[in-house]
Formats: sequence, C-alpha cells, structure tokens
Amino acid sequence: IIRIEGLGKSFPTSGGVVKVLDDISLEIRRGEIFGIIGMSGAGKSTLVRCINFLEQPTTGAIYFDGRDLSRLSLPELYRVRRSMGMIFQQFNLLMQRNALQNVCFPLEIAGVKKAEAAEKAKKLLDLVGLPDKAKAYPSQLSGGQRQRVAIARALATDPQVLLCDEATSALDPSTTRGVLELLRDINRRLGVTIVVITHEMGVIEGICRRVAIIDEHRIAEIGNVDEVFLRPKSAAAKRMFYPDG
Ligand code: ATP
Ligand code: MG
Repeated sequence: IIRIEGLGKSFPTSGGVVKVLDDISLEIRRGEIFGIIGMSGAGKSTLVRCINFLEQPTTGAIYFDGRDLSRLSLPELYRVRRSMGMIFQQFNLLMQRNALQNVCFPLEIAGVKKAEAAEKAKKLLDLVGLPDKAKAYPSQLSGGQRQRVAIARALATDPQVLLCDEATSALDPSTTRGVLELLRDINRRLGVTIVVITHEMGVIEGICRRVAIIDEHRIAEIGNVDEVFLRPKSAAAKRMFYPDG
C-alpha cells in the first residue's frame, strides 16, 4: 500500500547539510502491521513525515497505492493524507476541546455536517473503549485514555493506514499493552494497515509481523520479526538487540 524507493532526506543547517535519511527502500503491504525500529535520532519521525509528504524527500519517491506522491495535485495529496491517520507520543489533542470535539475536528475540516460528525465520533469513542468519556477534556483523562481519543480522531476520516510514531512511549507497560491490543483490534476489525514506529523491541514483538531496522539513517535489515529479533544478520541489529554480545 506504501512503497518507499531510494528515499533520502537532508536538512540544511548552519554547519552544512545533514543527511537524516539515506537510500531507504521498503514496502508496507495492505492490511499488515509493520514495525520500524531505531535509536533516537535515527530519522524515524522524519521518515513518517516523508511518508505523508509533510516533508519533501530530497531524493527518491513515495508511492501510495502505486501513485507517486510527488506527482499528485494538492487536492489529491490532501485526499491521500486523509487516508493516512497519525498518532504521536504526546497525543497532540486540542486541550480546549472535549474528547468528542477532538474526534469531530478532522471531520469538521473535511466539511462533514455537525450532527453527522458527532454521531460518527461517538461510534469511534465506543470503538476505542471510551463510551463514557465523550464530554471529558484531555486534562481529565489518563495518558492511555488520551491516546485512545487520539486513535479515534485519527480514524475519523476512515484512513487506510495508521502511522503511529512512538505512540506508546509515554505510557507505562500495562497501558502500552492495552493500546497495542486496541491497535491490533483495529487492524483486524477495520482492516487498517498499521505502521508502528518505536525504539522499543517489546512494542514491535507485541504486534508486528514484519520490521525494518533503521540505523545511522539507513535500513540495516528488514524481515519477519521473529527471524530478525532472534537471528539478526546486520551488525547494527545485533548491537541494538544484544548490546552485551
Ligand atoms: P526519536 O526516537 O528521538 O524520536 P527519530 O528517529 O524520530 O528520533 P528524527 O526526529 O527523525 O529522529 O530526527 C533525526 C535527525 O534529523 C535528528 O538529528 C534531528 O536533529 C534532525 N532533524 C529533524 N528535523 C530537522 C529539521 N527540520 N532541520 C534540521 N534537522 C532536522
Ligand atoms: Mg521521533
């Protein structure tokens, strides 16, 4: 559903140009839960932003459903973006809006009528396990509940893909498990393709079948999670998973 080909991304800085992504190629298949793991600063968030073209790649191409994103008109690009939901480490909810209003927000932007948006938002809050929190403000919710609202909001525009950038990194282990189970449930029930970006092996092991390891801004290894974690081939993966040898 997403194909990345020879992606490179550099940023100009005062000290010259820094390369943050170098020759990244990978394919995310429709319906799968795909993991991307790498240390802090490896370029994971930059990669996610390139996937939905919030960042323009310096080299290479991104294809969504076979369509080169760099060749789309702006309205077409917006449509593609709406079909890729995003959730973040810090949830990024609107603090002055309650849970229901947060979930309604992307629908309002898309021009959906208020009553219709509210009805859909209610269903989504049910789906994420928060049927009784519609009127609660983010400040009145726990971290796990906030992330559930963020997931409901990301699903509001019926995306085909959900990009999760360190979505559980601010949560404790048991809350993390709950959120991962919810993501798996969404994958199964709605058929949404899920991309999990993290620096934690446990998160990948919990729900992904395939994983790409990003090290030093490049792909070190791609494969099935059980193989890559048990028998890593690359030096980078060995270093990451078995730092003591
Ligand atoms: P983390 O695990 O900490 O979230 P990450 O793998 O997501 O890290 P990125 O946020 O993609 O890493 O950043 C990778 C590198 O790119 C960092 O060194 C960062 O300073 C640099 N970088 C990111 N965005 C910009 C920018 N707009 N301008 C200059 N440098 C940037
Ligand atoms: Mg990041």
